[in-house]
Amino acid sequence: MAIERTLSIIKPDAVAKNVIGKIYQRFEDAGLKVIAAKMVHLSAEEAGQFYAVHKARPFFKDLVTFMTSGPVMIQALEGENAIAKNRELMGATNPKEAAPGTIRADFAESIDANAVHGSDAAETAAVEIAFFFPGMNVYSR
Ligand code: ADP
Ligand code: MG
Repeated sequence: MAIERTLSIIKPDAVAKNVIGKIYQRFEDAGLKVIAAKMVHLSAEEAGQFYAVHKARPFFKDLVTFMTSGPVMIQALEGENAIAKNRELMGATNPKEAAPGTIRADFAESIDANAVHGSDAAETAAVEIAFFFPGMNVYSR
C-alpha cells in the first residue's frame, strides 16, 4: 500500500471541547503521523475558498459561519493509505450515522458541527495541503 498524505482539520466545535489531544491520539494509534500543523482562526474568505466545491449547496453559508466561529487545528497526516484511513477514523459526515468508535460518533453533535474534516481523494488531498501548507512537498516522503 502506498504512503499517502492527507489534510485534516479539527473544527471549531472539537477545539472548543478541548479534544485535540484525544483526536491526535487516534491518528497516532492508526499509524498516521502529523507532519505539519497550525492552529488558525479562518477568515470567511479562507473558509469559503477552502469549501468552494460546496458553494452552490444550501448549507454553504452556515458551513462558512461555523468554520469561522473559532480556531481550528489544521494538520497534514502521512501514512499508509492515509486518505481512506483518516476518513475511516472520522466516520460518516452525519454523526448520527457514524459508526461507533469513530471521531464523529464520539465527539460530534450534528452534521454542521461534526468535529473534523478530511480530504476525500488523492487529488483533493494535494490541493488542500497546498492550500494550507504552501510549498510543502505533497507527493513524496
Ligand atoms: P465530509 O466533511 O464528510 O467530507 P462533505 O464534503 O459532504 O462532508 O461536506 C462538507 C461539510 O459540510 C460537512 O463536514 C458538514 O460540516 C457540512 N455539511 C455537509 N452536508 C450538510 C448538510 N446536509 N447540512 C449541513 N451541513 C452539511
Ligand atoms: Mg468533504
